[in-house]
Amino acid sequence: MTQPLLEIRNVSKTYATPEGGSVQALKGVSLDITQGEFIVLLGPSGCGKTTLLRTIAGLEYPDSGEILLDGARIDDKPAYARPVNTVFQSYALFPHMSVAENIAFGLEMEKLSKEEIAQRVETTLIQIKLTGYGRRKPSQLSGGQQQRVALGRALIKGPRVLLLDEPLSALDLKLRRGMQVELKRLQQDTGITFVFVTHDQEEAMSMGDRIAVFSEGEVVQLDTPREMYRNPANRFVADFIGETNLFPCEIHAGVVSINGQVVPVQSLAENAIIGENGSSVVAIRPEDLIITQNQGILAGVVRDVIFTGSAVRVHVTIGSEEVVAVLPSHGVSVPERGIEVQLGAIEGTIRVLAS
Ligand code: ADP
Ligand code: MG
Repeated sequence: MTQPLLEIRNVSKTYATPEGGSVQALKGVSLDITQGEFIVLLGPSGCGKTTLLRTIAGLEYPDSGEILLDGARIDDKPAYARPVNTVFQSYALFPHMSVAENIAFGLEMEKLSKEEIAQRVETTLIQIKLTGYGRRKPSQLSGGQQQRVALGRALIKGPRVLLLDEPLSALDLKLRRGMQVELKRLQQDTGITFVFVTHDQEEAMSMGDRIAVFSEGEVVQLDTPREMYRNPANRFVADFIGETNLFPCEIHAGVVSINGQVVPVQSLAENAIIGENGSSVVAIRPEDLIITQNQGILAGVVRDVIFTGSAVRVHVTIGSEEVVAVLPSHGVSVPERGIEVQLGAIEGTIRVLAS
C-alpha cells in the first residue's frame, strides 16, 4: 500500500451556537486521499463539508482526531504553515488590485525577486487561460474569469493540496459545465491533489475520481462515481445520487417481494440485499425499468409520458406509489397515457436497501 497523501483520522468538531446550544458538525470522519486524486465531498447543505475543508486548511481546529500529510501531523499547525490552499465560493479578490497583483499576492509571504514573481504570474495566467488579462481589474472580468483569478492565486503557491469550496456554484449552468471540464483538465495537467466540495451530485459524478458522500457530519460512502451509482450503500445515497425508484418491499428467507409479488432472482443485482430491516426498500434506476404488456413484476397505469429530447420519461402509478421509467426517445415503442402496463427490470439491477 502506498501511503496516502492526506489522512483524516476520526476527526470530530462541535460548534457552540450563539443560542447557547451546540452543533456536532463532524462526527468521527476518516478519509484517506491519494496523491494526484480529485476527490469530491458531496452532501446536502449543513452536513459538514465546509467544516472539514476548514479543518484541513487550518482555519478550524478539530476537537479530536488527527490530520496527516505525507504521514506527518499537520492538525496542530497554523494555516500558513500547511502546504494547502483554498478557493472559496466568494472569489474574495482585491477590487483595487489588477489581476496580476491579485495572483501575485499569494506569493507575498515568500521573499522572491520581482522577476521570479512576474514569471510565475505569467505561467499561472497561461494555466488559468487569462493570458493578456493581467492588467485588468476584477470588475472588468466576467464571473467565470474572476473565479479563475481566485484559482490562480491559490495555484501559484504550488500547494500539495488544493481545497475548493463550491467554487462554481455562483456560475450559470452552461458556464459551470465548461468550468467543470476545465478544472478537471487543470487538475490532471498539474497533478495537484484536489479536494472539491459541492452539494450538486451531477457535478460530483462528472468531476470526482472518488466521491465521499456526507450526511449529518459523517461519511456514509466513499467510492468511485460508477460504484456509487450502481451500488449505493443505503437509501440516502441511492436517493441523493442520480434518480432512483424506491419501493417498500418484504423479505422472507432471502426472497424479496413487492406487494406480495415475488421479485425474480435474476432481476436482483449481485449481493442485492444490502440492508434488511423493517423498512427495507427496493431501489431501481429509471433506465433499468422495462415496460411490457405482460410478464412484468408489477402492474400499473401510465400516468404521464414526457418527452425531454434525449429521452422519454414515463410515469407509472402502482397503487399509491409512482415510479419513473426512462426510455430512449427513439427506436423503442413508448406506451400511451392511461393504458395498463406491466413493469419489469433489466437483469441484475434491483437492489434492496435499508433506510
Ligand atoms: P456544509 O458546508 O456542508 O453546508 P458546514 O460545515 O458549513 O456545512 O456546517 C455544518 C454544521 O455546522 C451546520 O449545522 C452549521 O450550521 C454549523 N456551523 C458551521 N459553522 C458554524 C459556526 N462557526 N458556529 C456554529 N455553527 C456552525
Ligand atoms: Mg459549505
